[in-house]
Amino acid sequence: MSITFVPTPAVQPVDASVDHAIQSIVSGASTDATCTTDLAAGPWDFDARPGYGPGSSMGDVIPTGAPRQGELPAEYREASEDELDERIRVAKATLGDRAVVLGHFYQREEVVRHADYVGDSFQLATAAKERPDAEAIVFCGVHFMAETADLLSGPDQAVILPNLAAGCSMADMADIDQVEECWEQLADVLGDLDAQDADGRVPVVPVTYMNSSAAIKGFVGRHGGIVCTSSNAQTVLEWAFERGQRVLFFPDQHLGRNTAKAMGVPLEQMPMWNPRKALGGSTASALVDSRVILWHGFCSVHRRFSVAQIDEARAEHPDVRVIVHPECPMEVVDAADEAGSTDYIRRAIAAATEPTTFAIGTEINLVRRLAAQFPQHEIFCLDPVVCPCSTMYRIHPGYLAWVLEELVAGRTPNRITVTADVADPARVALERMLAAKPPVVASAR
Ligand code: SF4
Repeated sequence: MSITFVPTPAVQPVDASVDHAIQSIVSGASTDATCTTDLAAGPWDFDARPGYGPGSSMGDVIPTGAPRQGELPAEYREASEDELDERIRVAKATLGDRAVVLGHFYQREEVVRHADYVGDSFQLATAAKERPDAEAIVFCGVHFMAETADLLSGPDQAVILPNLAAGCSMADMADIDQVEECWEQLADVLGDLDAQDADGRVPVVPVTYMNSSAAIKGFVGRHGGIVCTSSNAQTVLEWAFERGQRVLFFPDQHLGRNTAKAMGVPLEQMPMWNPRKALGGSTASALVDSRVILWHGFCSVHRRFSVAQIDEARAEHPDVRVIVHPECPMEVVDAADEAGSTDYIRRAIAAATEPTTFAIGTEINLVRRLAAQFPQHEIFCLDPVVCPCSTMYRIHPGYLAWVLEELVAGRTPNRITVTADVADPARVALERMLAAKPPVVASAR
């Protein structure tokens, strides 16, 4: 299995900063467009608002009980980019091996440049295991990622999320109470969910995408299910079909549909489960006939990509190679040349030996970083509007400087802890995934 992360070159010929792009748009220096000029403000400006803040997830409401970040001290809110950069460097140097900083592929450049490891959520959670000496794992991603790192790290290691308001709207679309209710309703329709047929298969196996809360991973672990990533979703579905007559897949309907369709499951056998409706808005007979029951969840970022954008890219660049993430809607995946995880996209670009034009359907921070890393290619985001994952974007460098300086001072802010009753079955579900097919790990810079 190859390593997926290639270190960012020290000198980048193109400015990869999405923040700089947004500030230029708002100041009028650039004629590009952004989905909302509110993105130019500090994330602390949105802590009191009832939604996820500006950008692609602006329509998503934060669930009741979601953690909220307390006010960041003014010295961090008011510091310049250069000052924060220097404070982060000094604090990191002071902490040395006591702290490791993890940066998700979709994280803003001003934060990622300080990361010891860069990768997708599972790569980062496993990368933390390579540093058992680190007392603090500073996870510059979103809440479910920090939970997964807590599941996989040592008991004496503290996982820290620099801004507690950095959630994932998709993960929050599958709430544990809704999932428990769904399970009960499925039992009403399908009978005893533990009863095996002549082939040893139970009526339904729950499968959750990595982008889900620890509570959901724990549910899956308790009910004979498994976790998947966008890299191994097909392998995991094969594992589940060996053990179950059908699969309940959450929270991302698109990853579930795209993967099952590629495996030959007809769309008619993939009913949707809307947790706000009785029987998920489906019928008992449709559920009985189903192969994959898709939870009504989606990623606000990947939902923005469209077939019209692909048509435009092809009209402007006849030789363009279009690669999209499988969280995109089915018609977008069908219209693209290829679909694959962030890791797949990275490797596809790195493997191209001739100068190539790539139109990429995934989060813009990763796309701009790839464009900077591979100047021999023309790489652009399919979405012409600058619109990052606005929840991930809440990890402003001010929060990173704050948590690192708190650690230097002997305090442990924003620790994410998964309780044992949830963590134990959640680890079981993750271990099943590793046994089904071990995914690759991120490498150190
Ligand atoms: S890009 Fe989508 S799935 Fe990923 S953290 Fe943001 S909202 Fe969640």
